[in-house]
Amino acid sequence: MSNKKVIVIGSGFAGISAASFLAKAGYDVTVLEKLDTPGGRARQLIRDGFTFDMGPSWYWMPDIFERYFEQFGKKTSDYYELIRLDPSYSIFFGKNNEMLVPANLDEFYAMFEKYEPGSSVRLRKFLKESAYKYDVGVKDFVFRPGNSVAEFIDPRVIKSVFNLHMFQSIAKYIRKYFKHPELIKLLEFPVLFLGATPQNTPALYSLMNYADITLGTWYPKGGMYSIVKGMVSLAEELGVKFEYNQEVTKLIMNGNNIQKVRTKSSEFVADIVVGGADYHHIEQHLLDAPFRMYSESYWDKRVLAPSSILYYIGVKGKLKNIQHHTLFFDAPFETHAKDIYENPKWPDMPLFYTSCASKTDPDCAPEGCENMVFLIPVAPGLKEDKLILDKYFKMITARFDALTGNDISSNIIFRQDYGYSNFVEDYNSLKGNAYGLANTIMQTAFLKPKMVSRKVGNLYYTGQLTTPGPGVPPSLISGEVVSREIFKRHHHN
Ligand SMILES: Cc1cc2nc3c(=O)[nH]c(=O)nc-3n(C[C@H](O)[C@H](O)[C@H](O)COP(=O)(O)OP(=O)(O)OC[C@H]3O[C@@H](n4cnc5c(N)ncnc54)[C@H](O)[C@@H]3O)c2cc1C
Repeated sequence: MSNKKVIVIGSGFAGISAASFLAKAGYDVTVLEKLDTPGGRARQLIRDGFTFDMGPSWYWMPDIFERYFEQFGKKTSDYYELIRLDPSYSIFFGKNNEMLVPANLDEFYAMFEKYEPGSSVRLRKFLKESAYKYDVGVKDFVFRPGNSVAEFIDPRVIKSVFNLHMFQSIAKYIRKYFKHPELIKLLEFPVLFLGATPQNTPALYSLMNYADITLGTWYPKGGMYSIVKGMVSLAEELGVKFEYNQEVTKLIMNGNNIQKVRTKSSEFVADIVVGGADYHHIEQHLLDAPFRMYSESYWDKRVLAPSSILYYIGVKGKLKNIQHHTLFFDAPFETHAKDIYENPKWPDMPLFYTSCASKTDPDCAPEGCENMVFLIPVAPGLKEDKLILDKYFKMITARFDALTGNDISSNIIFRQDYGYSNFVEDYNSLKGNAYGLANTIMQTAFLKPKMVSRKVGNLYYTGQLTTPGPGVPPSLISGEVVSREIFKRHHHN
């Protein structure tokens, strides 16, 4: 049994995952977390009897979560209860134009037929291809650490490159199958989770449509934070120690290795360090220049996933005509996308999303109330202020009321805002990104910032800015993959 000391920086999903796999293998693991609770971007906000998930709200790819707990001899149901949402979500395309997305596959096919006669036949083929991509992508590709291109030069990958549509955009791919603009929007929506536009995302990622349509949208009772609680409790069972309010300020070197990790109030000896906080922050702020693999201009050229402005609202009374997840696509997507990616600026007419977990889980809000989260994706790097936050809040609640027939504005008990400045201050986020580095073709697999430092002998990276990418399931996998890289390099018996 090893007594090697591992320090994990950050208690997001990736950090907790890495810590757990390492502890299971016998390492002595301590997680240092800047904030006073675990979960990182998936923290919880509790206020006046209302409970909010501050970040992720969509539980997709339940198989990945199951697989995670299984590796420790556990099941998700040992930690939280899952509920399948039906409808999965709804999309407002305009006044009296709402699409309720059914969980049942037969109903889903029937819905396609209604929008575009004959399309269900093509949908069958589309879903068959996306199932294949899910199988190769999520059960194989994501587990390759991306250390070098050589990992991808193997017969299975080469054989599948053609079938996976790696070099075609998903926007083009979807349009080969379907014509109806609203079906196209429905199928392009999951790509937004990957941080780039459908035009810049490889068609490989239609695997997300398989996740959406076939595997379904789930909700862990108590909210997404139940996953964090479950993972922390499992990590503690494995012997991981969590230290909160411990912001790492410096990695202290001895030659080419980190010897100690310094926080604002203490120092920790380390044989191995896993950076689970934002990659850019660790390299640029905690390491001296000779030990960085990437320059500031490298980071400047990366395509980041969007930042967001979020409003957590306690609402008096029950809201009608909304689902647990509701998308407001009543504005042109292309214009908003340009404002995020091409010419970063505050959008004139943004698309937005609302989450209302109290529709499924009454415990999230006092009786007769709702816990609403409004989210607008915006370009990374745009600094918000009170005026801007107020302006967008007014704009989107007015659209919300007009489309759903509610009067939310008169029933707000409290509102708490969150934006660029909070992402930077809370998580040391590069340009206030909400969910890491976009999965563009040029930022996929071995083209991402590397997990294994080439400059520091005992430093590794995990999380949404390295492989495999943004999202909760990829973060769990990222922690697992980095732990394997550590096992390969540090024989601990
Ligand atoms: C608004 C929003 C909505 C999202 N929606 C979804 C969704 O619906 N579904 C989905 O699957 N994914 C979603 N995501 C993405 C998902 O939440 C993230 O990809 C995932 O949580 C990232 O985990 P991580 O471990 O890489 O990073 P983080 O969660 O950011 O964890 C990093 C941790 O490091 C800590 N830290 C930073 N600096 C230091 C330091 N110097 N010392 C010590 N600790 C430090 C931070 O406090 C933080 O706890 C969403 C994200 C956001 C922000």
